[in-house]
Amino acid sequence: MLVVSEEVCKQVVGAQDAFKAVESVFAAMAKGDAYNFPVIREAIGHADALYGFKSGFDRAGLALGLKSGGYWPGNMAKGLTNHQSTVFLFDPDTGMLQALVGGNYLTALRTAAASAVSIAHLARKDSKVLGMIGAGHQAGFQLRAAADQRNFEKVVAWNLHQDMLPGLGKVAKECGLEFESCSQDQVGSQADVIISITSAHEPLMLKDWVKPGTHIACMGTDTKGKQEIDPALVATATVFTDEITQSITIGETQHAIASGLIKQEDITPIGDVINTKHQGRSSNDEITLFDGTGVGLQDLAVASVAANLADQTGKAKKIDL
Ligand code: NAD
Repeated sequence: MLVVSEEVCKQVVGAQDAFKAVESVFAAMAKGDAYNFPVIREAIGHADALYGFKSGFDRAGLALGLKSGGYWPGNMAKGLTNHQSTVFLFDPDTGMLQALVGGNYLTALRTAAASAVSIAHLARKDSKVLGMIGAGHQAGFQLRAAADQRNFEKVVAWNLHQDMLPGLGKVAKECGLEFESCSQDQVGSQADVIISITSAHEPLMLKDWVKPGTHIACMGTDTKGKQEIDPALVATATVFTDEITQSITIGETQHAIASGLIKQEDITPIGDVINTKHQGRSSNDEITLFDGTGVGLQDLAVASVAANLADQTGKAKKIDL
């Protein structure tokens, strides 16, 4: 069995590897070759922690396993990351444990890869301005992965906690992009692509603020009750997602669905666009929206890449169980 630490994951896996892995698994999901098992998430009644599993099987990529972990709010005070996760990969032929892979860095990488895949397939080719709503841990990864997809010139950003914006500005500079912090409506009126990645429970981007032709990647809403986008904006857009079941229950579309503004049939898996079964964007004026809810198969896909690369480069520890 291989053990791949957080540090080794950072050394061997980059945004491009994650992009390819996530694009392939979204394609396999849409073909019915890969499926996610029901998610378990429980408040364990200790340390205020939320703990759970995301698991699945990709028959095309032969990845079987689970990501285990959750949220420990007291960790920060101990100098640890609040979100903790570990990926377990099993041999699909024998059920034997193949690899234990640190999941914290990979979670950020696979989440950024999902919005990057949506930008690659749905954003206008001439997109120049990237809008960021959010400036937390994930936001930097999101910005870097998005920057590879279009010839962006500038980032416009809003965050509830303004002191977090300079950190994101630094990432934009490293990507060679101009950076401006501004109001939410100014993000909407300038951006060709908007990524939302916050823990908000209310709409942060309203329909009237957004230009025709914008692509929006909604990445923060991954739990019932969370919300980042005006349901009227969701209803105006052509909507794509990683997985429809998650989108309508824990993703951004939960609110537009609950208020009857859209129906499940209005939502297309992004894999259908990757597989050219759906044309994706149909005009330069269309608003496209990707609801990235985060599926276990994304974790297995990037963890498999990490395990293979760590093994090939001699950086994985080998242990007999
Ligand atoms: P973080 O704690 O580092 O940052 C939180 C961000 O949300 C900050 O920008 C903060 O200013 C903002 N925020 C907090 N409360 C807010 C409020 N009430 N209104 C508006 N903004 C608010 O967290 P992170 O690791 O960057 O994660 C951000 C979000 O992304 C979380 O909701 C997390 O659950 C979600 N997430 C989604 C996926 C996925 O696959 N879709 C994966 C990882 C994380």
